[in-house]
Amino acid sequence: MSDLFARGTAMRFVLSLCVLGWAAGAAVAQTPTATPYSTINAAAAASPITVHPLRGGVSMLEGSGGNIGVLAGRDGLLIVDCGIAISQQKIEDALARLNSGPLRYAILTHWHWDHADGDGWVRRRGAQLMATRETIARLSQTLRVEEWGHTFTPVPEADLPNVRLEGETTLTFGGETVIIRPYAHSHTDGDLSVYFEQADVLQTGDTFWNGMYPFIDYVAGGGIDGMIEAANENLALATAQTQVIPGHGPLGDRAQLLAFRDMLVDVRARVAAFKAKGLSLEEVQAAHPTAVYDAQWGQSIIDGALFTALVYRGV
Ligand SMILES: [Zn+2]
Repeated sequence: MSDLFARGTAMRFVLSLCVLGWAAGAAVAQTPTATPYSTINAAAAASPITVHPLRGGVSMLEGSGGNIGVLAGRDGLLIVDCGIAISQQKIEDALARLNSGPLRYAILTHWHWDHADGDGWVRRRGAQLMATRETIARLSQTLRVEEWGHTFTPVPEADLPNVRLEGETTLTFGGETVIIRPYAHSHTDGDLSVYFEQADVLQTGDTFWNGMYPFIDYVAGGGIDGMIEAANENLALATAQTQVIPGHGPLGDRAQLLAFRDMLVDVRARVAAFKAKGLSLEEVQAAHPTAVYDAQWGQSIIDGALFTALVYRGV
């Protein structure tokens, strides 16, 4: 589990700080306030990068926001997501230990900074930086994500992906077949998965959070129904042998994809039933529709109340 999300209650902690700040009034407002965004960046700054070797030259790097996939082979390096920019040196050191060749390709699963903030240094290394049209559009916009307490401003042109992916795309790299598949709107409107065919490793981006409630980015076109569709697509792509790199959390497998999908479907049904009766969000949260799941899924950055709010918005 990543350092950030193992620490769990970062967002709730920061929200508590904000409440205290408001209560204490103007004197506190002069002090820069921690946000989930700054807390996550600080966690990445403090965290080592852990390398988990998988199969066939594929590894998973953990410790800079979302998980990073790496394919190391005779042609150099291909990475999927590039973490938070502050981790650049540690990520480059880890990559150099895996392979002395050049960084040739980087693929972004979606626009979120905990997966894409390293885009600038990746471009400066000469890599082909690839993403969907929607991800490139989101990186080019000003977007306020209230839950992270941050307004993201447009990424400079030189740091943007320089390869726009249109539909399913297959690359052959280092003897491995790399299949890139865009999802329909799910966690955002621009997510994609990457499947390393010979290694049988599937990287899902943030359509799968292993053992924790996911964030859903409604501002950028995401929604609970799309999350369920993406979970079903992931299940269709994985067999009992497939190793699954989630957006967040430890390396997973098909059984964990299934448990995640079933949790999403059940929570959606519970929240939708309350909403159909005319209950407000606060009333639904008070009814604890996630109660049976919170001990297992709600101990990380997204707790049961926030996940209920994310689902309520989409049903
Ligand atoms: Zn994300």
